[in-house]
Amino acid sequence: MPMNVLQHDQTKAQLDAITSTRTGSYIFHGSRAVGKATSARQLARQLNCTGDEPATCAHCHQFDAGNYPDYLVVRPKDKPSILIEQIRSLIQALSLSLYHPSGVRIVLIDDAEQMTVEAQNALLKLIEEPPPQTIFLLVTERLESLLPTVRSRCIQIYFPTLPSDQIAAILTRTHGVPGAQAAELAAAATGAPGVAVALATQPDDAQTYLELIHQATSTLTRSPFERLLLANRLVAAKADLARFGQLLHALLVNQLRSGDGRPQTIAHQLEALEQFRRHLQAKVTLRVAVERLMLEL
Ligand SMILES: [Zn+2]
Repeated sequence: MPMNVLQHDQTKAQLDAITSTRTGSYIFHGSRAVGKATSARQLARQLNCTGDEPATCAHCHQFDAGNYPDYLVVRPKDKPSILIEQIRSLIQALSLSLYHPSGVRIVLIDDAEQMTVEAQNALLKLIEEPPPQTIFLLVTERLESLLPTVRSRCIQIYFPTLPSDQIAAILTRTHGVPGAQAAELAAAATGAPGVAVALATQPDDAQTYLELIHQATSTLTRSPFERLLLANRLVAAKADLARFGQLLHALLVNQLRSGDGRPQTIAHQLEALEQFRRHLQAKVTLRVAVERLMLEL
């Protein structure tokens, strides 16, 4: 199946540069569902394609079937972290030769910010000097959570959010969503085409999501008391609070970019959200975490 990712010109130019150099270590960063992992996958396939027509050669078929042997993916397992053992297994795998000797081996580290400090340190040598015909792609929503030593050894490629008219256009063009509905979904996706596509293709999810985004949007205009009531409702309804936090984050970042609202206030709100995210990870009681967030906003 062809993958369609809409990319900013600058992002696209940087990705094209990888296809010509065919080496190096890179960090793809940007907010959720803006096409980072999809682009990484697409790049891996493109670098190993041997056909004249895209997606018709044996390599592409193998890739699309999910068993291309020179495409290695590391991501958090059941624990919320990427552990040093996973990096050790990776190092071992990289000591073997490529399965397809003329190709390029791609190592994708998804949710790279979840690497423990030990795991990041174990990776340093590899990303500084990748083995021959090997490219490292670290994908993250939180660039600042990677060690400075990791960041400085990689070329950083930023995936910005997209204007909603561009997202609406891609929904109509590639998923056949009618204009008015595409515009509504694009607006709800707060700049993330991946979210818009998910909404268009999983309508069951869409209703819940639209409800959540409505609550996130109104949260920012309510009084602290009203926000506490909302917190209670969210907890009682077992809402996806991690996603709620991500939505608020996206809304605030958009406000910051478009010059709405005071930057100082928004910075404070973003800090409160960061604390909220840590609370959720640390398994602080949900009600306590969300009430604190609502009072801090
Ligand atoms: Zn191919």
